[in-house]
Amino acid sequence: MPRSLTGRGNVATLKYIKDIIPELEIISTPSGTSAYDWTVPNEWNVRDAYIADMDGDRLIDWRENNLHLVGYSTPVNATMTREELEPHLYTHSEIPDAIPYITSYYKARWGFCLSQEQKDTLGDGPFQVFIDSTLELGHMDSGELVVPGTSRSEVLLSTYICHPSMANDNLSGIVVMTALARWLQTLSDKRYTYRLLFIPETIGSIYYLSKHIDLMRARTVAGYVMSCCGDDRCWTFMPSRDGNTLADKAALAAIGDRIDKWLLFTERGSDERQYCLAGLPVALMMRSAFGQYPEYHTSKDGLGFISQAALEETLLVHQRAITIIENNHRWKANLPCEPFLSKHGLYPTLSVAQSGPPDIINILGYCDGNNDIVDIAELCGLDPVDEVLPIINELKKHFLVSG
Ligand code: ZN
Repeated sequence: MPRSLTGRGNVATLKYIKDIIPELEIISTPSGTSAYDWTVPNEWNVRDAYIADMDGDRLIDWRENNLHLVGYSTPVNATMTREELEPHLYTHSEIPDAIPYITSYYKARWGFCLSQEQKDTLGDGPFQVFIDSTLELGHMDSGELVVPGTSRSEVLLSTYICHPSMANDNLSGIVVMTALARWLQTLSDKRYTYRLLFIPETIGSIYYLSKHIDLMRARTVAGYVMSCCGDDRCWTFMPSRDGNTLADKAALAAIGDRIDKWLLFTERGSDERQYCLAGLPVALMMRSAFGQYPEYHTSKDGLGFISQAALEETLLVHQRAITIIENNHRWKANLPCEPFLSKHGLYPTLSVAQSGPPDIINILGYCDGNNDIVDIAELCGLDPVDEVLPIINELKKHFLVSG
């Protein structure tokens, strides 16, 4: 689907998601709508685009790969020499068989993106250059899904829908967030309300903030931008601006030992740029992060670059972070001493030689009213979701802790 900031590819993408999540609301915003310092651009649509030889044989064909056209290219229908065409050709400086991804949203121009190998075999021309595109007043489309919880406090999840034909950046974010949305819808007794946004990057988040900033500032306890969720090369953490929010804490605990790279806030690149500037606690749990892998923003970031296993693991890590946030109480033991666990059926019945008390007693030992499950997990050397939470839930059932 030819996705961009606007256009039929975005509408088709949102409708595809809505088929999976019927509760998704598609919001259409007219071109020219202002949002702070920005204006929603004209709607861009492409019917066809190519560079052909004089026999009409297509040398570069947008229908074969929509990365071939510079995003927001203006229409062209002309015969050109190689010299005339040359300034409109864009290649990747390092990977000779990669088509680069290039856009020109806010300055009117046109161009073709092609691999260096394709450029080398183009010949001297003349060429028929054809771009059947329209740039007119229309709409920018976004998807919004609110999954209600018992509290009005919210967790923000946001991904972008503006990149064509690339897998890790950014179809993987759309895929994993759609799966996460379905999981959230099945969770009963959610503590928090979840606000999920499928929006064009930058202008989409800026527009959304311009409409909802007061509510988002008042209610958002944590948030994640879902970007680069698909490959299995590494795990990357991008902190929020503050770096010390619940979103950061839960993300780091959720990624755990998997972590390979810890980026700085100065290396930010997606909609966290807008959310964090608005003061919202938004971090990212990524695989190979934007700008950090050679295939980034090229045709090499294709379906072969990502894997189902990596998508599933990224989903799991986001589920872990949400589970931590949902259970982020400061747990407090209800007795001023260790309970008689056997009475509650909670004590391991077989006494084996070990140094120190069993996990359940250690966990209780740190339920001092100040520690949340991440703190307790760190203090006990346990996993917060897989090890601490099941024990806390048992203790809760027996009225031995409260939070
Ligand atoms: Zn990108």
